[in-house]
Amino acid sequence: MSRQVPEDGTELPLMEEFYTIQGEGYHTGKAAYFIRLGGCDVGCHWCDVKESWDASVHPLTHVETIVDHADIHPAKTVVVTGGEPLIYNLEPLTKSLQDRGIRTFMETSGAYPLSGNWDWICLSPKKFKAPRKDVLDAAGELKVIIFNKSDFKWAEEHAAMVGSNCKLYLQPEWSKATEMTPLIIDYVMNNPKWEISLQTHKYLNIP
Ligand code: SF4
Repeated sequence: MSRQVPEDGTELPLMEEFYTIQGEGYHTGKAAYFIRLGGCDVGCHWCDVKESWDASVHPLTHVETIVDHADIHPAKTVVVTGGEPLIYNLEPLTKSLQDRGIRTFMETSGAYPLSGNWDWICLSPKKFKAPRKDVLDAAGELKVIIFNKSDFKWAEEHAAMVGSNCKLYLQPEWSKATEMTPLIIDYVMNNPKWEISLQTHKYLNIP
C-alpha cells in the first residue's frame, strides 16, 4: 500500500484538504484545516470514506506544500485524518506545522506505530485491527463508534487501556444513529465518565 511513498515522510498521499469546523469529539465546534491522507487497510465495513483506502490514487504531495496550504487559514489548527494517517511517517509534517505555530491534531485508529509530534490525538479504535499501546498511551480522547449494543462492552475494554486523563466519547455510527443514540444517552447518564459525541458537521451540512 505504501508503494512509492517515501519512508522519510517528506511526501504523503493527499486525498483532500479543506477548512471547516471540527464536528466530533473534544474539539467539536472549532475551526480547523483538515488534511485527509489516502491509504487504509483497517477495513471497517461501515467506513464512509472507502475512497481513501487505495493510497495509489491519491497524489504524493510534499509536506511543505501541504503546510503552505494550511498556513493561510486563520485557525492555525490542522486535523490530520484519513484513511489511516499513521501508516506513514508523520514527523516531517508535524514538525513543519508546529514550526509555523500550527497546532497538530490527529484522528487515528491507532493500528500503526505512533509517529509525529501531536498537540492532540483522537483515538477511534476499530475492531478489525487493534490499537497499539503507544497510541493508547498518547491519546487525548478515546472516541468509540457505537454500531450495535455489544459495542458498549468493547468501549469499556478500551477505556481501561487509555491513560487516566483521556476523555471518553461514545458516538453513534451515522447509519445507526436513530437506533443507537437513545441507548448512548441512557448509557452516558448511567456511566457519566463517558460523554456523547455526535457528527455535528453532518447536521450542519458541512464537510
Ligand atoms: Fe475507514 Fe477509518 Fe476504518 Fe480506515 S480506519 S476503514 S478510514 S473508518
